[in-house]
Amino acid sequence: MAFDFSPTNEQLGIISMVRRFVAKEVVPVRSYYDEAEEFPWPVIKKMAEIGILCMSGPEEIGGYAWDNLTRCMVMEELAKGCGGIAATPMANILASEPLEIAGNDEQKKWWFSGLCQNGELGAFCVTEPNAGSDVSGVSTSARKDGQYYILNGTKCFISNGSVASKYVVLATLDKNKGARGLTFFLVDREWDGVSIGKKEKKMGNRAADTSEVIFTGVKVPQNFRLGEEGGGFKIAMQSFNVSRPVIGAMAVGISLFALETARAYAKQRHQFGTSIANMQAIQFMLAEMDMQIEAARLLYQKAAWLLDSGKDVIRNSAMAKCFGADMAQQVTSNAVQILGGYGYMREYPLEKAMRDAKLLQIVEGTSQIQKMIIARELLK
Ligand SMILES: Cc1cc2nc3c(=O)[nH]c(=O)nc-3n(C[C@H](O)[C@H](O)[C@H](O)COP(=O)(O)OP(=O)(O)OC[C@H]3O[C@@H](n4cnc5c(N)ncnc54)[C@H](O)[C@@H]3O)c2cc1C
Repeated sequence: MAFDFSPTNEQLGIISMVRRFVAKEVVPVRSYYDEAEEFPWPVIKKMAEIGILCMSGPEEIGGYAWDNLTRCMVMEELAKGCGGIAATPMANILASEPLEIAGNDEQKKWWFSGLCQNGELGAFCVTEPNAGSDVSGVSTSARKDGQYYILNGTKCFISNGSVASKYVVLATLDKNKGARGLTFFLVDREWDGVSIGKKEKKMGNRAADTSEVIFTGVKVPQNFRLGEEGGGFKIAMQSFNVSRPVIGAMAVGISLFALETARAYAKQRHQFGTSIANMQAIQFMLAEMDMQIEAARLLYQKAAWLLDSGKDVIRNSAMAKCFGADMAQQVTSNAVQILGGYGYMREYPLEKAMRDAKLLQIVEGTSQIQKMIIARELLK
């Protein structure tokens, strides 16, 4: 089998377009949105214009249908510019995945025409106050009532929660059935009974929206049920298999930013009469950062390749996410170390990178949950 790590001409074109976008539209404003904790609508609208806000969806209805590797490469570039701003298209990818897996033509048309053509946002509503890592504990209820399902419950920590127009919501038809009682439903923000609760104030990713979404007696027509009754847990897990390599790619992006900043600083900072880049302790830190980033990139590329080849990806997807996220935490922390006191100051962009990177170890399944998945696959 031939191995070829060179990007295609199409990928090179896309990446250079995204790099220009990041330099012009993201880098100049990332500190502002982080400080202000404001949703970056002007940047998000421009992302929609150049086609990187919704990278999913069938081409016939205006979607981009990019392969997993290309999407990961785009997300690496965006996260290199700003982890927080990149979190919005990331949330669109995650929210669109249940549609890609189980949506019928009508449902896909409803969802992707909004996201891909009108610049709308989607949100993946699974987590609840008492159901985090244990998705089977979801207690938002769906009760059948004639041609409708009635949804009641509160979802928390939802990315794009207060800014989304469309939701994909996991609810239980029978709490006693645990994971087998769960079903996904599509919900429009404008429907009666949908409301937004608390908007979270966060350590990092502060340009991203993270909110509670509350469903109170929401009437969902039967044709807005995604897949079979009881099929929701499986769809959620399959969605994570696709989205986790993207988190790995974001980890690589944030870490590359940290490495570049630390490298440039080390070369110009002088102590004890010489540049700190001449000190072996600093050189070894930089070398380890470079090595770790390269390893994380190979892991996400392999997972994306497996996905694009239609092969089993569970273990590799968890590895790409866990290794990437843990690596980004270490690399950003070491980059702060290389800048010394300046690294700790908010005037410099590195402490933000460290705060943004922390989320990657938590969201879409913590690092501990990824290790459980890898061990389960290893031992089965
Ligand atoms: C900024 C942000 C955005 C988010 N966006 C979304 C979103 O868009 N949609 C959505 O549905 N959710 C979202 N989440 C929720 C996220 O997926 C959960 O926070 C995550 O899955 C962990 O759940 P928890 O916070 O309840 O932690 P818990 O599950 O309570 O875990 C607490 C700790 O216990 C550990 N732990 C739990 N179970 C085990 C176990 N069996 N073995 C070993 N250790 C274990 C965990 O690793 C963790 O360290 C978001 C969260 C954040 C912070």
